[in-house]
Amino acid sequence: MTDNARIERVVDLLARLASGDLSARGVRSDSDDDIDATIEGINMLAEELEASRDTLEQRVQERTAELESVNANVLRLAELGNLLAACETATEAFAMVEHGLKTMFDHLSGAMYLYRASRNILELRTSWGEVDATESMNPRDCWGLRRGHSHFVEMDSATLSCEHVSEQTGDSICIPMSAHGETLGMLHVIGHRTSTTGMVPFTPLQRQLTVLVAEQVSLAFANIGLRERLGIQALRDPLTGLRNRRFADEWIHQEVARGERNDRSLGVIMIDIDHFKRVNDTYGHDAGDAMLKAIAQMLEQALRPQDLPCRYGGEEFLVLVSEVDVTTLHDRAEELRRQVEVLSVEFRRTTLPPVTMSAGVAVYPEHGKTAGEIIEAADAALYAAKRAGRNTTRIAS
Ligand code: GH3
Ligand code: MG
Ligand code: MG
Repeated sequence: MTDNARIERVVDLLARLASGDLSARGVRSDSDDDIDATIEGINMLAEELEASRDTLEQRVQERTAELESVNANVLRLAELGNLLAACETATEAFAMVEHGLKTMFDHLSGAMYLYRASRNILELRTSWGEVDATESMNPRDCWGLRRGHSHFVEMDSATLSCEHVSEQTGDSICIPMSAHGETLGMLHVIGHRTSTTGMVPFTPLQRQLTVLVAEQVSLAFANIGLRERLGIQALRDPLTGLRNRRFADEWIHQEVARGERNDRSLGVIMIDIDHFKRVNDTYGHDAGDAMLKAIAQMLEQALRPQDLPCRYGGEEFLVLVSEVDVTTLHDRAEELRRQVEVLSVEFRRTTLPPVTMSAGVAVYPEHGKTAGEIIEAADAALYAAKRAGRNTTRIAS
């Protein structure tokens, strides 16, 4: 090959690289001259360019994944805020917070402490993951609480760990929880060292999200405290302790309005106990009441914390399920139906004979565009279940 032809090839190689084909490489001719040296130089450069492009692409991918997870968590946070606003007792709120924290920080561990009424000590109220949390702690043992703002400790850095942390096993953050100017407690979250992946990094975005969660939860707790002190229980049914019809109707209205804005579905399961009059007629009204209480308790235990069972009427219950499809909702109703069938209720030292339930399920926006239409659709499906012989579930048409 003539030198001119070789130089032409070098020019071609440069053109390919310039057009973005970083896998292009030149071939030496073994003449060990300047042209070969140039080709070698270009090849090395191409090698480096290709490697740095790959690293960059990988970084972009990692960053995108992180942003996606944070985005999903921001949505979950909004959801948690909404559910917390519906909580009326502290116990209920803890269950909700625990569930929310576990889903949002599934690869992190943590604990939540709240002040005792006496204010001199904090008690552990909930924890998740592999945290070794003490049952109670002195507020002086936490830098977050002492300084009144979040305290981040990077593993192996010079930052001081808090006294309440027995052993620093990863990056951790302590966030004081306060609302309406009052400090209520502290949220402690840690990122673990794992044998397979090494340290789980606690990214700045995750830290920010943790702070948002602490704020959201504090506000909800402050409001619950207020409501409990004021003794407002108007959204509860006194017999079963479940939410009442007024709550259910308000909730559906709210969720439908929210669903219109951000494309979220809402499912309702309308339940009616079969031949309930017979229970009253045979065993008396008090036995009927005991049965209703037992059914309510079963509903609360069988459902996920974010699903809301309500007592809609005498022996009618309504279960509100956010973001669900028809098949899943139907399955959930069937699961409840099976649990009612085997529910054993004791009343004055006799076991009452088991009852059955019928259910109608409907989903917004498939079966109706307004709260009223959804309830009507579920009610019609329930009626169809009754006509089909009871002890069954029907889907709205
Ligand atoms: P089905 O729904 O299968 O058609 O029959 P049912 O016997 O359940 O239907 P119906 O609606 O006619 O009767 C409901 C009964 O539920 C009537 C009422 O005595 C009883 N009931 C409603 N509220 C209460 C309550 O708070 N306590 C008790 N013990 N019974 C109640
Ligand atoms: Mg009825
Ligand atoms: Mg009935």
